[in-house]
This record gives sequence, C-alpha cells and structure tokens, in this order.
Amino acid sequence: TSIKLVRNIPSGTPTLDDFKIETIETPTKDSLKPDQVLVRTLYLSCDPYFRGRLTGTRDSYVASFAPGKPIEGLGVGIVEASTSSKFSEGDLVTGGSFLWETRHVLSESEITKVPSNTGISPANYLGVLGMPSFTAYVGLVSLCSPKAGETILVSAASGAVGQMVVQLAKARGLRVIGAAGSDDKVDFVKSLGADVVFNYKTCGSLQETVKKAAPQGIDIYFDNVGGELLDVALSSMKFNGRIAACGMISQYNATPETAYRIKNLVNIVPKKVSIFGFIVTDYYSKPDYKNFIDEVSASLQQGKVQYKLDEVTGLENAPQALLDLFEGKNFGKRVVKVTDTNQR
Ligand code: NDP
Repeated sequence: TSIKLVRNIPSGTPTLDDFKIETIETPTKDSLKPDQVLVRTLYLSCDPYFRGRLTGTRDSYVASFAPGKPIEGLGVGIVEASTSSKFSEGDLVTGGSFLWETRHVLSESEITKVPSNTGISPANYLGVLGMPSFTAYVGLVSLCSPKAGETILVSAASGAVGQMVVQLAKARGLRVIGAAGSDDKVDFVKSLGADVVFNYKTCGSLQETVKKAAPQGIDIYFDNVGGELLDVALSSMKFNGRIAACGMISQYNATPETAYRIKNLVNIVPKKVSIFGFIVTDYYSKPDYKNFIDEVSASLQQGKVQYKLDEVTGLENAPQALLDLFEGKNFGKRVVKVTDTNQR
C-alpha cells in the first residue's frame, strides 16, 4: 500500500479526497543499489507540520509534498535486506524520510539504528524518545531557561509535545498550567502533575481563566496553538517573560479571511518578553540532543515519565489519522501502526 498526495492545498482544510491509497508492487532486495536497505515499516508518525508540506509553496524549512508522490515523514521499521555495511537484516531503524508505504528502500544516510528488544514499543522512537519530546526539551529547556518557582502555561498540553513540556517543567519545579480540548485530556494532564488544567473549549472567557490560574501572570508560555490563547498569553506575561513559539496549529488550515488577528503583541516591548521561534531539526547536532536523551532515558528507566501514544492501525487509515490532529481527535502522540507483516 502507498499513500499519495493528490493535489497541493494552499489554504483551507484538507479532506480524505486529497489523498490516494494505491496498491503498489513493493520493492524486493534485488532492487537495492549499494548502501541501501529494504525496510518494512512498523510505525509512521502523524505530525502537524505535514500541513505546511501539503501547501505546494517552497518557502519553508522543509520541501512540500509533490502531488502523485507518496507522503513521507518520520517512521520506524525493520531492515529486511541491506547492501550497507552499517545495517543488517533485523535492525530496528528510524529516520525522517520514511515513505507512507508498507515496504520501501532507504539509503543508509537516511536512517539511524535504535535499540531493539528493549521491551518498549518501537513507536516510542517517534514519541517520548523522538522528535516531539525533543521539541518540548528544546523549546522549554534550551530556549526558555526555566527556573524553579516560575509559572508556565502550556497549550495542547496532552499532545505529543505538550505532555512532555508539562513533565519537564514539573521536574524543574515550575508551576504548570495546562490547556486542553476535552475533559479526558484535562484529567490526563492533571495526572502528569500539572497544577491547574482547563478545557479551553468549555471554560468560558480564556482571559479570565488564565487570570484566575495565574493571578501574578505567567513567566513562560509554551505555544503549540497560536490564535486566541497566544493573544491571552501575550497580555498575561510577566516582566522578562519568554514564549516558546513551537507551533500554531489553530492557524494551519486558516485562510486569509479566517486567520486570527493578534491584538496584544504590543505588550512584548514594555514587558521585555522574548519570543523564540524554533525548528527542532536545528538542534540534533547540538549538545542539547545528548542532554535530552540522557535525561529522558534515565527518567523513563526510573518510571518518572509517562507518555501517551495514540495508535491508529492500518496504513490505509493514515490520511484520516493525520487529519484528526487538526480537530483534536488524537489523544497523545498519534502514530500509525503498519500491519502488513508478509515475510519475503
Ligand atoms: P498534538 O499531539 O498536540 O496534536 C495536535 C493537538 O492540537 C490536537 O490534539 C488539539 O489538542 C490541538 N488543536 C488542534 N486544532 C486546534 C485548534 N484549532 N485550536 C487549538 N488547539 C488545536 O501535536 P504535536 O504535539 O505533534 O504538535 C503540537 C504543536 O507543536 C503543533 O503546533 C506543531 O506544529 C508544533 N511542533 C513544532 C515543532 C518545531 O520544531 N517547532 C516540532 C513538532 C511540533 P486539544 O484537543 O487539546 O485542542
């Protein structure tokens, strides 16, 4: 099976008709060129940044998907055959160029080996030990310099990135306020240790809710959603506040007519607020990555970190699994479990 993009979607909300599910001839080990591997896909990652890659514009840090070509992104798989001296049959590998196909060929430079037989699901390499978790680390620890006693507001707090921001912040002694889109999500974020969590869809005035949760204001806002909550955060920042501009998912499907207009940006000057826009891929080559792996691996081993995965089974369900992110229908890190296990 292969999931291909039908057309580019500059703005507005993508639909299932924008994706095509095709049955394809899967590659065999005879088709390998030097330094390549044949990988059977185990898990594929659904990520909000895919929306930018559906647009067809090239003014981004990552190229758009091309109509007629398979979707590609982060994945985990098993090496079934290899012409590379670095990888052998049976290796568990991950990388960011996994095609949304059951089996496909990757070059050795596109993958790295991860430990297998550790007792944890390989999907964790797309979650707690993967990109979303590292994103939480970079935005909070590397950029916002959190200090014990400070107050942080986290949006999409139950999500792939948000659930780690909450736990990294609690581990550093911060007072954590989380926003989430359902009561189940609110309960989950509380179970992670957050001090105050609210359902932003049912709480009434966001301004008053944030004011009540943080009467003195907030030191750090970890922004995953943009829009109105960012506006409220901008008006609630303390002096020398920091904002991790991680993502603005509420705006990804917006059209010029529906885009939210921020009103409170003026506050950043007198309050001396720093806003850090960042892309996590810039940080894998920095010491931050090792620091992150060391901290999170140790916390996992000691049972100090929880991580909620949200698995959808079947590659044919991947387009819906992706579209769900923009409606908050995922609960935790959304991955697609690819079930074609035919041996060859
Ligand atoms: P999540 O697992 O948090 O899933 C997305 C969540 O966003 C939904 O579950 C929903 O949660 C919330 N959401 C969806 N639509 C809206 C909306 N209209 N208004 C408010 N909230 C909405 O995704 P990730 O953790 O993977 O990503 C979170 C953010 O981080 C995204 O903006 C993403 O683009 C960004 N990101 C940035 C990276 C970087 O390098 N800068 C790297 C990785 C992610 P709820 O039900 O609570 O509303």
